[in-house]
Amino acid sequence: NAKGMGRNNYQVYQAVSEESNQQRIALESNLRKAEDNGELRVYYQPQIDVESEDIVGMEALVRWEHPELGMISPGFFIPLAEETGLIVGIGEWVLRTACADAYAWQQRYGLRLRVGVNLSAVQLRQKSLPKMVADALSSSGLDPSSLELEVTESISVKSVTNLMENLDALHEIGCQIAIDDFGTGHASLDYLRRLPARRIKIDQSFVRNIGVDPDDEAIVKATIDMAHSLKRDVVAEGVEIEPHLRFLREHHCDEVQGYLFCRPLPAQAFDRMMAERQRLFGRRIESDAIG
Ligand code: C2E
Ligand code: MG
Ligand code: MG
Ligand code: MG
Repeated sequence: NAKGMGRNNYQVYQAVSEESNQQRIALESNLRKAEDNGELRVYYQPQIDVESEDIVGMEALVRWEHPELGMISPGFFIPLAEETGLIVGIGEWVLRTACADAYAWQQRYGLRLRVGVNLSAVQLRQKSLPKMVADALSSSGLDPSSLELEVTESISVKSVTNLMENLDALHEIGCQIAIDDFGTGHASLDYLRRLPARRIKIDQSFVRNIGVDPDDEAIVKATIDMAHSLKRDVVAEGVEIEPHLRFLREHHCDEVQGYLFCRPLPAQAFDRMMAERQRLFGRRIESDAIG
């Protein structure tokens, strides 16, 4: 993610790397205990169908509520978690939590809500990944088709052992695969052709420049057209203002996600928002209900 948040994340991380070794070790040992101490949170950001304006899914985004430092964003601690291998346990916890929450909301609101969970390259290397995902699904009760695994485009097929095998196995289980941060990596076309991905997520660094930079607008439009030609759906990330949405609607983008609609919310707040929507638009939500 060279253009967007990736660079900021890298800068933050580099700052951490340059801190004294002691501080680093302290943060690492804090992170090691974060899950057991109940300091990890999963936030949810709704994904909206452009045509119907219904909430069709949500992305699970992890946060760390550090007792002294407060809420820490994933851009800051995921790199540390990846470097130390802690991401395997954290990622599994996020996945299990997201499946359980999604299942509860499907039951409560009678919707076919989809939940997107980000996977790290470290997790994608693990031979045991498909089995872990299958287990998380069966213990939560969530239908595999309601789980979407987000794989960032910057992960290269060549450098990640087991990547293709794992993605094929996850696809076999019935999960959906999305290519995240699309447009920021090097292997866009190769990725689209080879991965069993149902959906691509246009990176926010392009969406942000709608109405600002005609080149980025052209990239967004071309990406949507190409994805549709290959029978993939498109989600635009980082939709912040009305003109972004107007452009995306005009160019037939399928779904949007961003601050214009909603920031990522803690589970309880997401639940309240869904309840409020059902109260206001009950009819419309019913027309979408399962069974
Ligand atoms: P991502 O998967 O591309 O997630 C989208 C990011 O964009 C989120 O940042 C979200 O809060 C932010 N965002 C959403 N709408 C807007 C908007 O309108 N404007 C702007 N400027 N930003 C918006 P967040 O939550 O800080 O996460 C950052 C990255 O950390 C994620 O990027 C993802 O790569 C990673 N991440 C988050 N949760 C997990 C996780 O559970 N596991 C792994 N491996 N990575 C995660
Ligand atoms: Mg994502
Ligand atoms: Mg993204
Ligand atoms: Mg991103």
